[in-house]
Amino acid sequence: MKKSKILKAVARVTALMLVLGMVTTGCTKPVEKEVTPSKQEAVEEIEKTHSASKRDAIGMNGMVAAATPEATQVGVDILKKGGNAIDAAVATGFALGVLEPNASGLGGGGFMMVRFAETGENVFIDFREMAPQKATADMYELDADGKPVNREYEVGAKSIAVPGEVAGLLTALEQYGTMKREEVMNPAIEYAERGFEASDVLCSIIEKKFDVISQFDSTSKLYLDDGLPLEAGHKIVNKDLANTLKVISKEGKDGFYKGEIAKKIVEEVQKHGGIITQDDLANYEVKMREPVVGTYRGYEIVSAPPASSGGTHVIELLNIMENYDMKDLGFNTANSWHAWAEGMKMMYADRGKYMADTDFVKVPLDGLVSKDYAKKQFERIDMNKSMEGVEAGEPWKYESGSTTHYSVVDKDGNMVAVTKTINHFFGSGVTVSGAGILLNDEMADFTIQPGNSNSIEPKKRPLSSMSPTFILKDQKPIATLGTPGGKRIITTVALIISNMIDYGMDIQEAIDAPRINHYESGQLKIEGRIPQEIRDELTNKGHDIDVKGDYDLYFGGAQGVTINEDTGELHGGADPRRDGQAIGY
Ligand code: GLU
Repeated sequence: MKKSKILKAVARVTALMLVLGMVTTGCTKPVEKEVTPSKQEAVEEIEKTHSASKRDAIGMNGMVAAATPEATQVGVDILKKGGNAIDAAVATGFALGVLEPNASGLGGGGFMMVRFAETGENVFIDFREMAPQKATADMYELDADGKPVNREYEVGAKSIAVPGEVAGLLTALEQYGTMKREEVMNPAIEYAERGFEASDVLCSIIEKKFDVISQFDSTSKLYLDDGLPLEAGHKIVNKDLANTLKVISKEGKDGFYKGEIAKKIVEEVQKHGGIITQDDLANYEVKMREPVVGTYRGYEIVSAPPASSGGTHVIELLNIMENYDMKDLGFNTANSWHAWAEGMKMMYADRGKYMADTDFVKVPLDGLVSKDYAKKQFERIDMNKSMEGVEAGEPWKYESGSTTHYSVVDKDGNMVAVTKTINHFFGSGVTVSGAGILLNDEMADFTIQPGNSNSIEPKKRPLSSMSPTFILKDQKPIATLGTPGGKRIITTVALIISNMIDYGMDIQEAIDAPRINHYESGQLKIEGRIPQEIRDELTNKGHDIDVKGDYDLYFGGAQGVTINEDTGELHGGADPRRDGQAIGY
């Protein structure tokens, strides 16, 4: 090996060692000088329209806020060409699968919520993955304490559920879009074929997931260089994925769920010991559902119904918090964080006990979103003392979730919120050879012990927390927002809504503000920006605090767009915790 190559390898191993065990990433990187043509376009748009943070944007005619500048620009280009918000959302969705491969893609699933300006109707498209027919409640080996004996439920082929993304995005396009499949899929094909530069955030995630990626040759080929994590700026090219996208663009859903690609998926899955069959793929079903609706201080909150726990529990938590005078508690004070933490614990305890796919299990949905129930929960909170673990949780799960959220508003006021995922960063780690598709590990979102409402059943959807959400006031749309972050999605969405409604923050300020999370048991996780005096007060109330980074990836990567009721001005906000970017015009 040449000396320079050795030095390079040493530097990368050092970087790898530094990042493994770190909880945060430096993600406010300056825009690179050397850029591909479309990235250059995105940069120019950003320079024109952005405030100092360079994450947010103002526009009057259309706005997209997504997890990477290039994917955002793809959506904006579609809007400028005359596409509606759904066309832009589908184009951005396919592009994100290429540009943010760690988070979502053809091998995953998600939820899209659409609001039509003309009718005020909200539709919810559920393209969550489904358990394969051969899946059973006891398919993962457990020890005497009911804990998994290995990581099969989250790494490798047995963790893969039947993907829904292609069916979901194409259903949205067919039913509500105006453009041709080829037109909205072309940018994704181009990025897969020509490549794109890996960002610092993506490279740090590759390093975090090195142990998973390196187990699979077809995934290592794409995201490792000489067996080591990529360096920022490295061009990621995925020609197999480009070809797969071309087939889908020509043949539609059947191009993915039947025929050659389906065959390749099944071969790859079975080669690694998985159980997905061609019938599972051919029988994948998109579900159109009614969103869940609640209110917070007179604002209407419209969000994700089961098989996501998201919307229901965002509303439950906000209902609890509505009993406080938040201005009186103050922003970023020990009392406000304590109140949030206690509300979060009770909400997560309910989630663990009751929530699951309502096509299979009866869930007390009305009770969970009832104001009276929330009042009773609120009365359990002692403002001086942290409640002991409300109910045992599953702390070994959900510690590093991936996923992506984006929001779109078009010139007519149609509004879209999409949260989609392959579950953990880089999903199962399995990439389909010759098709370039990275497959999800969504089976890990089931409760892997039998006997729970969320235990595995054939064709059941694993319980999600994804919460694409709209805020309305007197029937008028005010905001579209959401975030990744595993179960922490619920608390992040609730905090952002409260920041805007209780403290008058704009979308970017509400996204930037510090976050906390508390599961039903365990530690109170807080961002490092929360000052020491407040941490001390929280400790005095009995909280065991775990301090994360200042802007920590762990707390998600929220994106949203607000609509000014009086002027119609659109404000897109994007999360500095990852590569988020809003662009408007
Ligand atoms: N698979 C998780 C869910 O559906 C999302 C993971 C994440 O957001 O990080 O809730």
